[in-house]
Amino acid sequence: MKITESQLALVNDRIRALIASNSFYGKKLEEAGITEVKTAEDFEKLPFSEKKDLRDAYPLGLMTAPEEEIVRIHSSSGTTGTPVIIPYTQKDVDDWGEMFKRCYETAGITNKDRIQITPGYGLWTAGIGFQNGCEKLGAMAIPMGPGNTDKQLEMMVNLESSVICSTSSYALLLAEEIEKRGIKDKIKLKKGVIGSERWSEKMRNSIAEKLGIELYDIYGLTEIYGPGIGINCEHNTGMHIWDDYLYLEIIDPVTGKNVPDGEEGEIVITTLVKEGAPLIRYRTHDLSRIIPGECPCGRKYPRIDTIKGRTDDMMKIKGVNVFPSQIEEVLGQFPEISSEYQIRISHLDGKDTMRIYVETNGSVDFENLSKRIAEKVKSRIGFTPIVKVVENGVLPRSMKKTARVIDERFD
Ligand SMILES: [Zn+2]
Repeated sequence: MKITESQLALVNDRIRALIASNSFYGKKLEEAGITEVKTAEDFEKLPFSEKKDLRDAYPLGLMTAPEEEIVRIHSSSGTTGTPVIIPYTQKDVDDWGEMFKRCYETAGITNKDRIQITPGYGLWTAGIGFQNGCEKLGAMAIPMGPGNTDKQLEMMVNLESSVICSTSSYALLLAEEIEKRGIKDKIKLKKGVIGSERWSEKMRNSIAEKLGIELYDIYGLTEIYGPGIGINCEHNTGMHIWDDYLYLEIIDPVTGKNVPDGEEGEIVITTLVKEGAPLIRYRTHDLSRIIPGECPCGRKYPRIDTIKGRTDDMMKIKGVNVFPSQIEEVLGQFPEISSEYQIRISHLDGKDTMRIYVETNGSVDFENLSKRIAEKVKSRIGFTPIVKVVENGVLPRSMKKTARVIDERFD
């Protein structure tokens, strides 16, 4: 996948706007002597932008449109360090809404649907993004925000919500709660739009089965509008990305070179029409790949695979590089365990130790299961973990994102 002529023209337009506004990025481009790019090869030589650059521009150094055109800011929820502030013009807000509307439509959601929105409203882009797209579509938004499971279920039953929007963790929590309370026949949900954290196939299947609904993965990040820049279609062959608004590349995270379609790497995004804070070649640190070929649905929008993790998820244990997704793949081969797991890494007597907690029901021989999982993990990552088997429901559930890796080595 190469950048097209029309996409290049849009990039040049953004480069000119960045320089003219004297924004943080404009200055960087000017210092590098860049005023335009003529070819796809030129484009691939443009410097990357990084989260750190965005933090350095705090508070409003990214602002590229005149102040009177800025209608809103959003901020990334970064738990450490300076936050990132992204200014939006009215056009940016509208464009984002259009993209989100397209996501709902791709998932087969219409203006007859009632959409229960559980992501948070506020500085971050979650709830308000789901809401904006829902209103553009003409569907009925039920703007719950996170938490208060009793109230969520009450509204879901009484208002007959047909779509649930949430993180995968919260969708699982709700699904288990519905099962526990025996109210599944009162639930009218048909679809779930799930975003903001990586989830395993196992978890996906578990939620879909418990609720009896179709699930759609939505993609996005605060730095680039927010959620809604791509979603999978009914064929579930990866997420279509709206390439009339964004240009997407996959690079080798170490060398920074573009990798061929189909190969895994880090997602890099360029905004093609954003006014408030355009970004050129923004490194997302999300790992995925472009799915080559055309989708059976006939949509021409390029597709990326489910997010495999983040470049910064990598754990170094006993000198070996391990990604949580590798452990997850192994656990996926054991039908007798639930989708929930926890990895704890500690340092005892001068040695790293990895413990993996998994859940199952009482009919399984815990000791034998633990041994079989440990063997499989060893064959995948090269060393033997300690596997602890617990009863279903013992591991923590979360209303936002579930922390699955706890590194106690540096406490
Ligand atoms: Zn498709």
